[in-house]
Amino acid sequence: MPSENPSLPSFMEWKEVDSLVGSIRTRSLVARPTNVDQCRETLVYCKQHGLKICPRGAGRSYGDEALLDSQVLLDISAMNQILDFDEEKAQITIEAGTRLLDIYQEVHYRLLTLPSSPTESHSTVSGAICANVNGKDAWKHGSFAHQVVRLSMLTADGETIEIDRSHELFNAVVGGIGLTGIILDATLQLKPIPSPYLEVHRYPAPDVDALLETMAKVEESYDLAVVWMDAYASGKKTGRSVIHAAKWTEHDATEAERKTYLDAGYERLDKHRRLGLGLHEAFGPLLNLMLYAQKPMLHVFNRLYYAMSQFASRTGRSTNTELFLRFSFEASFTVPPAHLVCGARGYTVQLTFPRSQAREAIIELMGICQSSPSPPVTTILRAHKSDDGLLSFSEDGYSLNFEFHPKKHNETGSRQAIDRIIDATAKRGGKIHLAKDQVMRPDQFSRIYPRHGELLKIKSRLDPEGLFTSDLARRVGLTPS
Ligand SMILES: Cc1cc2nc3c(=O)[nH]c(=O)nc-3n(C[C@H](O)[C@H](O)[C@H](O)COP(=O)(O)OP(=O)(O)OC[C@H]3O[C@@H](n4cnc5c(N)ncnc54)[C@H](O)[C@@H]3O)c2cc1C
Repeated sequence: MPSENPSLPSFMEWKEVDSLVGSIRTRSLVARPTNVDQCRETLVYCKQHGLKICPRGAGRSYGDEALLDSQVLLDISAMNQILDFDEEKAQITIEAGTRLLDIYQEVHYRLLTLPSSPTESHSTVSGAICANVNGKDAWKHGSFAHQVVRLSMLTADGETIEIDRSHELFNAVVGGIGLTGIILDATLQLKPIPSPYLEVHRYPAPDVDALLETMAKVEESYDLAVVWMDAYASGKKTGRSVIHAAKWTEHDATEAERKTYLDAGYERLDKHRRLGLGLHEAFGPLLNLMLYAQKPMLHVFNRLYYAMSQFASRTGRSTNTELFLRFSFEASFTVPPAHLVCGARGYTVQLTFPRSQAREAIIELMGICQSSPSPPVTTILRAHKSDDGLLSFSEDGYSLNFEFHPKKHNETGSRQAIDRIIDATAKRGGKIHLAKDQVMRPDQFSRIYPRHGELLKIKSRLDPEGLFTSDLARRVGLTPS
């Protein structure tokens, strides 16, 4: 580790930085610039001291995508101003560190929304761009790449370049996990909505065929959807799930009234975030203990959850109207966060598979999960559409997001199951979401992301000394360790 330098710029300091999920512990020199000059000063400092840089947003990716042990993390979160809002074009220009939630506060009451928002509303714009995140509307609006009109990026040589959708670098930078330079600001395309409210429907599906049939209908007539799946249901019940589908709906109110109820909604969201996370944290050790009896416990829980959804559906109680804020962001605080669900040895895996192979893929993946000594604690399905990013996760198909909680005594067996899941994904040309990965090995990565060589060619042109990297890029062999 380089020695700690007393003549550091005032906006840089050494800090412990951990992964959000699992137990990756790092110590990095964290630069928190407030303007472009300080970003350039960081570049110069790093070159002078032989240090590498990993740009970082809010650090809400799960594993090591925004970590770089013993080197420099450039934390962009203090550059968070809204620079321009063009109501006519429905476009907003913001600094890279602006949180998605701050964009909602600016535009939602004006009947505009930001498609492709992940469940983590505190993600920054540059984090969302570089990880090319996806939302519950991914089959309709695609991943975050689809919303980017233009951006500016500081390259390793200190130059700022403008990149719009037609620029040759667009598909390398968007989704490029921060390896090409530091995103400084971006313009995003917003979409009109009839009101900030959604009509939400829950559809229980007894098996994989019912699930895919219902999803096909949902994808035609709804705007957002997320599916809870029972990874413990086997045989004829494989794929048993509950589909949560939502569509934007009318809700009479003046702009001032919308602002008032949305402001209350943001306050509630913030309160529930603190309360929910605090409460879950307090009960974390208990959850950890309970997960030693994971299989019987989740078997019962999942059956109960499904039975309750069936009952609600039969008695006409499976529909309600709620704010988008609640459906997309707030509802997630009712369940424990990923780091508690996964525990100290755990990890998440989000993988895609093509629509044309959905049935076989679900059956195969559920079979592998059930053969694991630690099947996933949670399993969530989403629909997607493809984009052209060189490291893009999205494709015309579905994704499954698993949260795994391996125990000390079955770590090896759990890891073997993960390898089979990754192999099954690679075989179908599917992808593993890098923002949630901490398990892929170099051989697996190069099979899953065959276009990574194109990204490296562009990187060697923009960053010949290899200034930008991350622990993830090193782990999967994208950049030298
Ligand atoms: C509760 C929760 C729910 C989530 N739900 C979803 C979901 O629904 N869908 C989904 O896709 N993801 C989801 N995620 C993952 C998260 O949204 C993404 O990892 C997102 O990228 C995090 O944004 P961030 O600002 O924290 O970025 P970071 O984690 O800090 O960084 C992400 C990547 O962007 C790069 N980067 C960041 N800023 C810059 C910059 N200025 N210049 C260059 N590179 C930069 C980093 O190097 C890194 O590669 C979730 C995470 C949590 C905690």
